[in-house]
Amino acid sequence: MAGHEIPRSHPRYHSLVVRERLVEGFRKGIVVPQGLIAHGRGEAFDYILGERTHDFAEEAIRAAVAWLLLARHPVISVNGNLAALAPREVGELARLTGALVEVNLFYRTEERVRAIEDHLKANGVGGVLGSACRKRRLPGLESPRGIVCEEGIFRADFVLVAIEDGDRTEALRRAGKRVAAIDLNPFSRTAQMADITIVDEATRALRRAVEVAKELRGAGREELEGIVSSYDNAGVLARAFQAMLARLSEAASKGRLLEPPA
Ligand code: ATP
Repeated sequence: MAGHEIPRSHPRYHSLVVRERLVEGFRKGIVVPQGLIAHGRGEAFDYILGERTHDFAEEAIRAAVAWLLLARHPVISVNGNLAALAPREVGELARLTGALVEVNLFYRTEERVRAIEDHLKANGVGGVLGSACRKRRLPGLESPRGIVCEEGIFRADFVLVAIEDGDRTEALRRAGKRVAAIDLNPFSRTAQMADITIVDEATRALRRAVEVAKELRGAGREELEGIVSSYDNAGVLARAFQAMLARLSEAASKGRLLEPPA
């Protein structure tokens, strides 16, 4: 079933369109089967969150954008799922913040890196790093999972990742980089380890990040530094857990939700 065949009236229209985009990415060699499974894990948490961007995610998005604007070498790390879901948003955020875009894969083959680069370029992302760069290794990750570009992630001081695995987030942190992560699961090692955790769906979060970048682009360094220094990730994660708890206890006490998932 192609995306345009899903009836708009379907109660889970958006979720089905997103799934379709991933399946399409799988057919093109961009998404791996494990990526489809990872998406399912994310969807379950999005159900609990009510499929919307909460205030704690909004705060994390602002901090991540401020940091992207302040960093000397910011990089947006793109994997197969993110490329399939939000290529245009990635390109626009990179353009607005001056961040580089690098294809960085857990299940890395050079063919897949090139397929993702082509897909990003076809969606308007300029200057993608991945295949044609000087390769370096991130310490602590066995090859080829640790391969990064010297002028990209290797020298980055700030990296935005999404739908990422905990090992790689940990390796980035160990290499001294600040990390912002978009991850629907606040329990994940990635969510727990990042400096900034955006507990939100990646496409939704990036769309919002683009709007915030348009707003903060004109801000002075002092304002941006204020946003970053007052940011409290443990507090944001606690609020994410509380929001989930509130939805679950409402459901547990009534046997239904007042506000069903969109
Ligand atoms: P960790 O190793 O960090 O504990 P994990 O083993 O769950 O996490 P993966 O299997 O790579 O790591 O899963 C990627 C993560 O991305 C999961 O936590 C999942 O909830 C989340 N996720 C999946 N799809 C999305 C999405 N569209 N937006 C945001 N997060 C997502």
